[in-house]
Amino acid sequence: MSQSEDNFAPTTSLTNHDRIPIHIPGSIQPHGVLLALNNQLEIQQVSNNTQEYLGKDVDDLLGQPLSYLLNAKQVAAVKQCLGKKVGSAKVFEVTINTSHRNRDFYGITHRTKDCVILELEPKDAASELSFLEFQALAGEAIAQMQETSNLTEFLHLVAKQIQEITEFDRVMVYKFDQQGAGSVVAEVKRDDLSPYLGLHYPATDIPAPARELYQRCGLRFIPDINAQPVQLLPQENPPLDLSYSALRSFDACCAEYHQNMGVTSLLVISLIQNQQLWGLISCHHQTPKYLPYEVQKMCELLGQIASSELAHKISNSEWDYEVKLKSLQSEFLESISQADNFIDALIKPEIRLLDLVSAAGAAVCLDNEITLVGTTPNIHQVRALIEWADTQVNDNLFASDSLPKLYPEATAFKDAASGLLLLRISKVRRYYILWFRPEVIQTVNWAGNPNDSLKVEADGSVTLCPRKSFAAWQETVRLTSLPWQPCELDSAIALRNAIVGIVLSKADELAKINLELERSNQELASFAYAASHDLKEPLRGIYNFSTVLLEDYNQVLDDEGIECLETVVTLSVRMETLINALLRLSQLGQVQLHRQATDLNELINHVIDVFRASRQETQFIDIRIPRPLPTIECDRVLVNEIFSNLIGNAFKYNEKPNQWVEIGYLDTDEHPLVFYVRDNGIGIPEHHLETIFRLFKRLHSQEKYGGGAGAGLAIVKKIVELHDGQIWVDSTLGVGSAFYFTLN
Ligand code: ADP
Repeated sequence: MSQSEDNFAPTTSLTNHDRIPIHIPGSIQPHGVLLALNNQLEIQQVSNNTQEYLGKDVDDLLGQPLSYLLNAKQVAAVKQCLGKKVGSAKVFEVTINTSHRNRDFYGITHRTKDCVILELEPKDAASELSFLEFQALAGEAIAQMQETSNLTEFLHLVAKQIQEITEFDRVMVYKFDQQGAGSVVAEVKRDDLSPYLGLHYPATDIPAPARELYQRCGLRFIPDINAQPVQLLPQENPPLDLSYSALRSFDACCAEYHQNMGVTSLLVISLIQNQQLWGLISCHHQTPKYLPYEVQKMCELLGQIASSELAHKISNSEWDYEVKLKSLQSEFLESISQADNFIDALIKPEIRLLDLVSAAGAAVCLDNEITLVGTTPNIHQVRALIEWADTQVNDNLFASDSLPKLYPEATAFKDAASGLLLLRISKVRRYYILWFRPEVIQTVNWAGNPNDSLKVEADGSVTLCPRKSFAAWQETVRLTSLPWQPCELDSAIALRNAIVGIVLSKADELAKINLELERSNQELASFAYAASHDLKEPLRGIYNFSTVLLEDYNQVLDDEGIECLETVVTLSVRMETLINALLRLSQLGQVQLHRQATDLNELINHVIDVFRASRQETQFIDIRIPRPLPTIECDRVLVNEIFSNLIGNAFKYNEKPNQWVEIGYLDTDEHPLVFYVRDNGIGIPEHHLETIFRLFKRLHSQEKYGGGAGAGLAIVKKIVELHDGQIWVDSTLGVGSAFYFTLN
């Protein structure tokens, strides 16, 4: 069902087909006469139909000078050809005196390597196009073509224009892909014919020599595929190169093939882009159809104009596509910057994520959570694929249109993912977006039934049938997807930049806030340190002078005065305690941990010794350690402070006759260990369980329980947090309290 003539050789081997010398068939089509002339313009070879057109026998003509047939002016026109390069044609009107009348022809002459060829096509006065008509038609066609910017519309317009001029039953525009396979991209046809639009054809349908000829000549015309070819005589002459000949005959396979399709007349116009055959305008007619030479020329001209307009339309359509991708990118940017949920921003709507690179499926991987969209491999396959593809990534991107060839495991899911585009957003966070394209075979609407069997001819030869050509084509595109376009890769990269940009700018904001917090913390800490340091000196003065007054001047003072002074002393002591606590806390704000392996048993023993020494009482201090404590990495001095504080409080806030404290760690496998200091003291009301850790928060008056500054637990909490740990308390009023904490 190919659009080409010169196709389908009667051979099982596709490659043989490429070797058929279709440019030297030794015959022409019967709708004109061909004369081959030597450099002296003597007739060397003629088609065996001169009697019919010229009223002269072949033998009469062979060996004669051209002047035997044409007048001097016409001979001079042919002679000009001698100086021209091979293939360049010249057309002029010729009147030949046949036996009984004058007959008008178009004389089309061109040079080959060895000779000059003159082809004569009869001129039909009735269908003649005047120059002005020709110009008007061409002018209108050009104007319309220029008005259309969309490639698909443009190709449809070209097909329509050719159909209007030729009045063929069906006009198609056929486009080649990178492998040379083609598809019908535009079609104008008679309503009752079934459409071919969208069908694909293998590269082998138009073999290399035929392609070459299409590229060389802008137009190929076969008015009647059933017409008998006319031999060139004498046959023993060396084969004549008919590459540029308009009348060149076609091979039998081509005839049979088109007969089977119900096509009798064929017109093929080349579409050239960057000196390459981009596609063809292919016209079919069910009955023989002769197109006057001017109309053929008109079609050829339209083909040339369409070819030259094609570049703009292609770049327009690429541009359109790029614009579409750009607008999708900015949509993404907006949703990502506004969304709280990153996944939602990417996959709602799903089609947008797919459209961004024209994929059929996608997977979004955030940490280890994978979300699938469209047609994709399954989750396990995607997970394994990411592991592999991550090793292939270059500049955060990996793209392949033949994944199974690089990653054999992908053969299992080639239908979904013969093509992969992987975008790495963050390796550390394991953020990836993957896009998939199916094997190209899945996306193609194959022309003809691929399951048709091979046709064995009576002579034993086998005709290449759709299945064979499909199989051949399948081989070339097996395990591959449509290629990823550079603008699609750019689109993916732009998405990454947007995501990273937004995430980074959010991180930047956080960093800025952190920096400010850090600065204000530092300022606060240095303020507290300076203030408490500087406060201590005048306070010492107040204390000292008050003590001096009390000791040396107590004679002068009355009782009230002494009492006042004693209060000043107590208050200044108290104030010093408070200042010391504040000083300690602000120091902790800047402290660097000196972590070292610390045997907690030793540490606790030391704490207990100091504690005992500080208590002048002789009574027994019951400190229980149910099992040996571990050795941990920590800041020894600071952890010492934790235990001193907690043990101190445990005895301080205890009214029982048999006070005890238990120190240990919970029996869990979890890390970090949970240490505790438990007592049988007064307990803490539930609503204070959290507030007791605040600075200067005391639950009791100064006098009761010999309470401190209310800073002890705030300092303990700070030290625990410096170790990335947590502290909390559990307590029952009147029964006791347990302080729990972790250290990392
Ligand atoms: P202080 O230096 O006054 O003891 P802390 O910050 O150490 O201050 O403790 C704050 C308050 O928490 C104390 O005033 C006390 O009321 C309560 N508290 C602390 N430890 C215990 C405990 N083991 N049992 C009962 N209450 C306690």
